[in-house]
Amino acid sequence: MNDWIDLRPDPAHVAREREKARQLRQTEWWRQQLRNGVCHYCGRKVGEANLTMDHVIPVARGGRSVRSNVVPACDACNKKKRFYTPAELILAELEKEQEQQAGQPGDPPCGD
Ligand SMILES: [Zn+2]
Repeated sequence: MNDWIDLRPDPAHVAREREKARQLRQTEWWRQQLRNGVCHYCGRKVGEANLTMDHVIPVARGGRSVRSNVVPACDACNKKKRFYTPAELILAELEKEQEQQAGQPGDPPCGD
């Protein structure tokens, strides 16, 4: 599906930004994010222990370890998102819907 994306992870960039992320985790700013205990994506209050640092634009996709690109995310959201950018997530959702419609022509629209 993603043949229009040709952004290869640059190992030097990834190593540099991972190290910066490690440093960012030590900052008072990040600790405050964790103390809030709220997942950036789903808005649930999951508590400090259940939050991890998530890059909105993944480092492997050229994202950087800066305050504007890192957010606290709960485990479920982190797993769901993985290596996609927000725009790609929306595209993936659309494709999934189309696949479901195309693949199961006889099914009722409200299966769940
Ligand atoms: Zn969440």
